[in-house]
Amino acid sequence: MRHSFLNLLRQGLSGHRGWPQAWRNPEPRRSYEAVIVGGGGHGLATAYYLAGEHGLTDVAVLERGWIGGGNTGRNTTNVRSDYMYPESAALYDLSLRVYEGLGRELDFNIMLSQRGWLFLIHDLHQMETARHKANWMQCNGIDGVIVDSAEARRMLPALNPAADARYPVIGAFPQRRGGTIRHDAVAWGYARAADRLGVDIIQNCAVEGLVMNGGCVTAVQISRGTIGCGRMGVAAAAWTARVTAMAGFPLPMTSHILQAMVTEPVRRCLDHVVISPATGAYVNQTRKGELVIGGIMDLYQSFSQRGTYPSIEKVVAAVVEMFPAFSSLKLMRHWAGVVDITPDRSPIIGPSPVPNLHLNCGCGTGGFKAIPAGGLLLAHAVATGRQHALAEAFGLERFRLNALVDEAAASGIAH
Ligand SMILES: Cc1cc2nc3c(=O)[nH]c(=O)nc-3n(C[C@H](O)[C@H](O)[C@H](O)COP(=O)(O)OP(=O)(O)OC[C@H]3O[C@@H](n4cnc5c(N)ncnc54)[C@H](O)[C@@H]3O)c2cc1C
Repeated sequence: MRHSFLNLLRQGLSGHRGWPQAWRNPEPRRSYEAVIVGGGGHGLATAYYLAGEHGLTDVAVLERGWIGGGNTGRNTTNVRSDYMYPESAALYDLSLRVYEGLGRELDFNIMLSQRGWLFLIHDLHQMETARHKANWMQCNGIDGVIVDSAEARRMLPALNPAADARYPVIGAFPQRRGGTIRHDAVAWGYARAADRLGVDIIQNCAVEGLVMNGGCVTAVQISRGTIGCGRMGVAAAAWTARVTAMAGFPLPMTSHILQAMVTEPVRRCLDHVVISPATGAYVNQTRKGELVIGGIMDLYQSFSQRGTYPSIEKVVAAVVEMFPAFSSLKLMRHWAGVVDITPDRSPIIGPSPVPNLHLNCGCGTGGFKAIPAGGLLLAHAVATGRQHALAEAFGLERFRLNALVDEAAASGIAH
């Protein structure tokens, strides 16, 4: 401890130039046994589990920008596992359980804060739907209960107390193990751990084309040349469909802008992550005191990564109606990501029509919480060539077989 304090002091006085790099910056080799496209949380986790769980260390992660620069570094950091289908509950709860021990496993502080996720209920119909979901969750062995209006108000003292509030709160549906995790730390923690196991993380390296031979991918074309590969995992979120187009097949996925914003910091006033699906707004307070606000997705298709004023206005209007005191806060920053939406709002994990190319995409508005499970399951597919039992329901084939895992209602914000 004394040693690290002295080191911190030394670094502070010398301009922070002496810190060791957390991961290398290697030149790409001529070929790899496995190439992972996308250096977001899912791609980095996949590489880490390929090396750590399957002993496959001849692996490169190719990231066209900087790691975590896609949706992983743009999300609102909420984690939970309150899904309805048993298949989704198993997937997202596996993720939450891995997250609960991930800081220790990676020796990296991911700032897990299980402060509780609180789903507000504004009318009787929403109450019935919440009860339905709570019953499913109990059946799936996941924590989830309904609390009444008085308990919701006790948990959220800043809620609008007016009797004629536009969005009265008649109850809430908390998942107490839900909360937040620092998003960059997840990307950086997985990156450092994967690098230490021998994985090459190559940034500023976009995959521009695929070389196919006998129906399989044999190499990837990047701006600096060609890299041979034995097998491939694609975890490039909305851009995954562009990569699979290079391999000659489309994906049932659309790409939309999802935005978020943050206020100036204030004293602690909100203990939980709060979502109001009916109004399309959600909010949590960071440890620094800022309120992180997220909301509705823009329904038209886009790859622009820029927000739009109508969505900001709608989301902010709902938040200040529910929490009138927040109306005096200044918005400091606003940003957007491009989310990958499937017809049933569940991810696509596993094999593709190209035998040595495997997928993990389609997590849409909720894939940060799925990173550990997505990484484990894609790593399993890439390493063994087989679908993991937990991923069986999430294969691409489900759209042809009409075996959808319809979790639109679980995505928190309707879309
Ligand atoms: C505003 C916002 C709020 C959100 N809030 C939450 C939340 O609170 N909780 C939650 O669970 N989820 C949330 N999400 C969703 C979540 O962020 C994503 O589902 C998740 O981060 C997806 O991770 P990923 O690794 O699959 O994708 P990304 O992090 O997007 O990584 C994909 C990477 O692939 C790279 N790439 C693309 N094309 C290529 C190519 N050709 N070659 C090489 N690299 C390429 C991209 O540069 C990118 O870095 C939110 C998303 C947004 C935008």
